[in-house]
Amino acid sequence: MGSATQKDTAAVRVDVAVIGAGPSGLTMAILLARHGFTTALVAPADPPEDDRTTALLDSSVALLRALDLWQEIEPHTAPLAHMRIVDDTGRLIRAPETVFDAAELDLPAFGYNIRNRDLNGALGATAAETPGLVRVIGRVEAIRSDATGASVTVDSGETVTAALVVGADGRRSMVREAAGIDTRDWRYPQAALIVNLEHDVPHHDHSTEFHTPTGPFTLVPLKGNRSSLVCVVEPEEAERLKALPDDALAAELERRAHSVLGAMRIAGARHIYPLGGLSANRLGAARCALIGEAAHVFPPIGAQGLNLGLRDVAALGEILVAAKTRGEDIGGAATLERYERARRPDIASRVAAVDLLNRSLLSDLLPVQALRGLGLYAIGRIGPLRRMMMREGIAPSLGRPRLMRGLSIGGNGG
Ligand SMILES: Cc1cc2nc3c(=O)[nH]c(=O)nc-3n(C[C@H](O)[C@H](O)[C@H](O)COP(=O)(O)OP(=O)(O)OC[C@H]3O[C@@H](n4cnc5c(N)ncnc54)[C@H](O)[C@@H]3O)c2cc1C
Repeated sequence: MGSATQKDTAAVRVDVAVIGAGPSGLTMAILLARHGFTTALVAPADPPEDDRTTALLDSSVALLRALDLWQEIEPHTAPLAHMRIVDDTGRLIRAPETVFDAAELDLPAFGYNIRNRDLNGALGATAAETPGLVRVIGRVEAIRSDATGASVTVDSGETVTAALVVGADGRRSMVREAAGIDTRDWRYPQAALIVNLEHDVPHHDHSTEFHTPTGPFTLVPLKGNRSSLVCVVEPEEAERLKALPDDALAAELERRAHSVLGAMRIAGARHIYPLGGLSANRLGAARCALIGEAAHVFPPIGAQGLNLGLRDVAALGEILVAAKTRGEDIGGAATLERYERARRPDIASRVAAVDLLNRSLLSDLLPVQALRGLGLYAIGRIGPLRRMMMREGIAPSLGRPRLMRGLSIGGNGG
C-alpha cells in the first residue's frame, strides 16, 4: 500500500475510495485492490481505542481465508466450539439449559473470537503491503458526486476522486449523511458493560450466555484462560459496575457467572455501550455504498454485527467485479440497486431476529416468556431444528456471497 504524501496525492484518482479503517473498511479495501481496482483507504492515522471482541463465524472465516488473510488472524483467536445458553431470568416459565456443539454441523468451531484491536492490527499490516491500495490519512469532511464521479475532501486538504465511495465509517457515518440516506434508529433501556477477564477454570472453548431479566450476560473464550464479557444491564447499573474497584467487580462478575469459570480477575479497560440499533433506509445513493456499522448497528447479542458487515463486503466485492467485467459504471445507480437487492433481505431478517430476542428477554408478559422458553426447549431437543438454527445463526443459507462459499469472483483476484 502506498502512503499519500502532500506532493503526490494533493489529488488522488482511484476507482474506489473506502472511508474508514475498521475491520469492514480494511477488508473491503484489501478485497478491491486484490481484484484489480485502484483503491484509496481514507481514515485517521490512529485507530480509535477498540476493546470490543468479535466472534468471527464460519462464513466470515471463509471470506478471510479466500482473501489469504486468515493465517495472519488465526493465531490471535480462540475457537468457539460450544455455545451454552442458560435461562437465568428466575421467571415462572424458564427454558432449560441448551448447549449447541459445532461438531453437530461437522465444524471444528462455530467461529473464532478475537479482540478487535488484534483483528485490525493484522488487517492493517496486510493492507500496508497490498499493491494498488493507497492510504490517505485524515477524516473525510465532504463528498460531492455527479454523473461522472465522486470527489472526497479530506481534512488534510487532500482530495480523492473515485467512481464509487464505500462508507465503512461506522455508526455515525458521514458518508451516509453526505449521500442523503436516512436511518431508522431505536434504543433499548439497557447498556452493555464490556471487559476482558482472566479466570481460574479453563473455558474449554465454551461460550456461555446467561439470559437475565435485564439482558444477556455473555462470556466468550479468548486465547488462554481469558474470556470477553458483555454484560447487558440497566444503564445506572452499568455505571455502578464500571465504577467498582477491580476486586469488587471481579467478585460481582463471578457471582453473576455462577462461578462457571472460577475466580476472575479484570484484564483490561471497561467500556459502556448504550444499547440500540440502527438501520440505513438505503444501502446506496449518490455514488456511495454503505457497509458494516455505517449500514446497520446491532446490540451485541448473537455475534451478528461484524459478521453481517463482512457479508456486505463479500457481496459488494462480487457485484463490483461483475459490473467492471461487463464494462458498467461501478458507482452507477444500477450497481447500487443490485447491492441493495443482494443485501436487504439478510440485513432485515437479522435486525428483526436480534430485536425479537432482546425484547423477549425484557418482556414480563407470561405468553412471551412461554414462547421463548418453548422455542429454546424445541431447539434444544429436536436435532434437525437445532442444526438448522445453528446453520442460520452462522450465516443465512440464501444468497451467501461466492467468496463465503469457497468460490472465486473473477477479476485479478482469480
Ligand atoms: C460490546 C460489543 C460486542 C460486539 N461483539 C460482536 C461479535 O461478537 N461479533 C460480531 O460480528 N460483531 C460484534 N460487535 C459488532 C462489531 O464490533 C462491529 O460491527 C464492528 O466493529 C464494526 O466495524 P466497522 O468497520 O463497520 O466500523 P468501526 O469499527 O466503527 O470503524 C469505523 C472506522 O471509520 C473511521 N471513521 C469514522 N468517521 C470517519 C470520517 N469522517 N473519515 C474517515 N474515517 C472515519 C473510524 O476512525 C473507524 O476506523 C460487537 C459490538 C459491541 C458494541
